[in-house]
Amino acid sequence: SKRGLAMPVTSPPTSTFNKEKGSDGNYTVTLIPGDGIGPEVSHAVKEIYRAANVPIKWEEVSVAPLIKNGKQVIPDESIVSIKKNTVALKGPLATPIGKGHVSLNLTLRRTFNLFANVRPCKSLEGYKTPYDNVDTVLIRENTEGEYSGIEHEVVDGVVQSIKLITYEASERVARYAFHHAKQNGRTRVTAVHKAPIMKMSDGMFLHACRQVAKEYPEIAYDEDLLDRACLRIVQDPAPYSDRVMVMPNLYGDILSDMCAGLIGGLGLTPSGNIGKDASIFEAVHGSAPDIAGQDKANPTALLLSSIMMLRHMSLFDKASQIESAIFKTIAAGERTGDLGGKLGTKAFTEKIISRL
Ligand code: NAD
Repeated sequence: SKRGLAMPVTSPPTSTFNKEKGSDGNYTVTLIPGDGIGPEVSHAVKEIYRAANVPIKWEEVSVAPLIKNGKQVIPDESIVSIKKNTVALKGPLATPIGKGHVSLNLTLRRTFNLFANVRPCKSLEGYKTPYDNVDTVLIRENTEGEYSGIEHEVVDGVVQSIKLITYEASERVARYAFHHAKQNGRTRVTAVHKAPIMKMSDGMFLHACRQVAKEYPEIAYDEDLLDRACLRIVQDPAPYSDRVMVMPNLYGDILSDMCAGLIGGLGLTPSGNIGKDASIFEAVHGSAPDIAGQDKANPTALLLSSIMMLRHMSLFDKASQIESAIFKTIAAGERTGDLGGKLGTKAFTEKIISRL
């Protein structure tokens, strides 16, 4: 059906933060410290925010599953808190092994319809990687596409896995990409696709992007093939620092890790999960049980995630102040063990605070 293509622009306005400060002059933000190293890296964020006088009051909640009527559920308290505050910072959650567990990450994504996964990758000054000028921002459609979960066996030995693309979800993520570009001083949006092969699905995704582009005449728009984009970024990432890339689910999953590899790995990369009613910011790494509780964890990825959150809340000055203190600390060689340094989590946090 061509219904989708003919559809007018209908999706709701892009997720923007529009909460008021409380009577104490602070915004309330939900904090989920998480498992493993989560509490240590969350503590580092709280200490640095206190020292920088960021107008945020943390509402700390646990999402450890409870047993209710014999079933595992996520405590209402955390859902209620995120609904109320519309913005949350989340530490890593260990995925329980075994049957019958609830995937907390999946539950949060479904509950809040977190439709856009934002993954910036920026080179850290002084930390040696193949390039020192990576500054990419990638936005991945987070609810459908190749990960729609619709699979079946047609006959013995033949399976089908459905790539589901809707105009609505494509338009929604495209509009967020343009909004994000505008809000973060980027001048171009590039849609990444394989439409010459996936004519209908990626074709519809591109159609939605082109329609939304008309709403943002001040932002340039172009399109790039996924394979060509991969080749170009690993050969020379510099031209990608002016833009936001937007793409269907699977392409974004892979390309975002490729960009992370260019700046030194997943341990340094932040992310934002943007939804219509709430947004959740988190580091890309996991709970690192091997180093938990030993003052070894690097809080950089969660800190950079929190800085994305500050920009989402339009707290641009505080975001730049903290970001610059982190970058200067790392550039001075004052680092945690994972980056070849000698500092523990607490000492590294103190070094950042001294540069605020
Ligand atoms: P991991 O990212 O936790 O750890 C991989 C390696 O990187 C480990 O050696 C660890 O010590 C190191 N590392 C990770 N973050 C670090 C940091 N901030 N500072 C220093 N070193 C760091 O991946 P894993 O071991 O595969 O997963 C552990 C648990 O985390 C699993 O239960 C997994 O399901 C979960 N996980 C959760 C999320 C999430 O909540 N979003 C994401 C990924 C993994």
